Amino acid sequence: MTAEPHTQVHHDSRSRVIEPLYAEILRRNRGETEFHQAVREVLETLGPVLAKRPEFVDARIIERICEPERQLIFRVPWSDDSGDIHVNRGFRVEFNSSLGPYKGGLRFHPSVNLGIVKFLGFEQIFKNALTGMPIGGGKGGSDFDPKNRSDAEIMRFCQSFMTELHRHLGEYTDVPAGDIGVGGREIGYLFGQYKRITNRYESGVLTGKGLGWGGSQARTEATGYGCVLFTAEMLRTRGEDLDGQRVAVSGSGNVAIYATEKAQQLGATVVTCSDSDGYVVDDKGIDLDLLKEVKESGRGRVSEYAQRRGGASRFVPGRGVWEVPCDVALPCATQNEITGDDAITLVRNGVKAVAEGANMPTMPEAVRVLQEAGVAFAPGKAANAGGVATSALEMQQNASRDSWSFGYTEERLADIMRYIHHSCHTTAERYGSPGNYVVGANIAGFEVVADAMLAQGLI
Ligand code: NDP
Repeated sequence: MTAEPHTQVHHDSRSRVIEPLYAEILRRNRGETEFHQAVREVLETLGPVLAKRPEFVDARIIERICEPERQLIFRVPWSDDSGDIHVNRGFRVEFNSSLGPYKGGLRFHPSVNLGIVKFLGFEQIFKNALTGMPIGGGKGGSDFDPKNRSDAEIMRFCQSFMTELHRHLGEYTDVPAGDIGVGGREIGYLFGQYKRITNRYESGVLTGKGLGWGGSQARTEATGYGCVLFTAEMLRTRGEDLDGQRVAVSGSGNVAIYATEKAQQLGATVVTCSDSDGYVVDDKGIDLDLLKEVKESGRGRVSEYAQRRGGASRFVPGRGVWEVPCDVALPCATQNEITGDDAITLVRNGVKAVAEGANMPTMPEAVRVLQEAGVAFAPGKAANAGGVATSALEMQQNASRDSWSFGYTEERLADIMRYIHHSCHTTAERYGSPGNYVVGANIAGFEVVADAMLAQGLI
């Protein structure tokens, strides 16, 4: 059977252009499995746009976009409370600045390595483009483990980390924020050290700051809120809403807590939360005040939540939340947390929508299972973009020495999430994959960045 002409063109551009490129990326970035996964997931969807815009192929945009503009790796020595010396590794990958200063969070977690930072930085390029804000893509972090460290140890680590990183930052150059293991406390220590070294009160150099010293209202809530607002938009296209839906959330950090809060505000019942020790199921609905108290003030574990909540909830050690039946699943912990088998279970239990609060939490085979079953699936670069978008709003307030109300900032966030949903939805339709948010997000983000790179010459 002969393929329909335009399908043939997609197929040709895929095998002729994309496969050799991907092979070269594997060869040059050995062992960086998460980076390979993120690149593959994007390249797989670009066939139609390369067929329509051959100038991107001629200008070797893909080769350029997959190679970071700059990669920094540095030593971070620090001493603990007993005076023992530790040496960690710091990273900052400045991936793409065609739309604005590099922008993306810092992750402190023992699993951090160059491949993970590159996967996150690569995703960040397209995510930031989707927001419509003037921000480039970058990401950083360290293999430092903040668990069970005192405030003084965290401060000394942050000061040492910033002592090297500061020379690469600037409000027009590179603007980090938080991610796993980096919240308001860490941003405070990092900002204090930057200010001390540079003798500049450069508010716009870091986002996620405290409200009294340059932070933005709604930044703390933005990623989780945005993820739920995106989910509501997806459901709306199917004539549904969140009211009365049963929602499973994984994680119990910043994104998970505020995804739970917004889902509850919209009338859903959130029945789970988790951490790396296991999960809690609470059929009556998570008691968010208690969860915040355990996690935010006490930095405790979800098992403690279950203990204090009593009868209504149950802690299940060593397992993931996806075995709990739900209408909507919001993975908000970390990468690769929904396996193919988990996706089969979710589908069997009748899930209608899955939106990634975390970055790349759904494994490729799981994405396939969900899409084939007709589940509305939102990739992180669209669904969790509310965090970085509100960081850009923080930069805007810093630049104008202004601060906006919570209501106004949240309204801007809601507008941005509707805009991202609309652009993913219409781009997927325009390129022949209606309802496929992976295709929509990748192509919509890619086109903006590729056009800017073309316009700026050989960069
Ligand atoms: P936090 O550090 O606040 O919380 C992370 C949560 O995920 C914790 O409950 C943690 O449990 C759990 N977790 C982390 N690693 C693992 C693991 N290997 N296995 C099981 N559970 C794990 O981070 P955030 O909430 O900020 O980030 C969560 C995700 O959202 C990440 O993928 C991040 O990249 C993404 N994201 C965050 C944004 C933000 O604004 N914060 C913006 C966009 C995306 P434990 O305590 O046991 O480690």
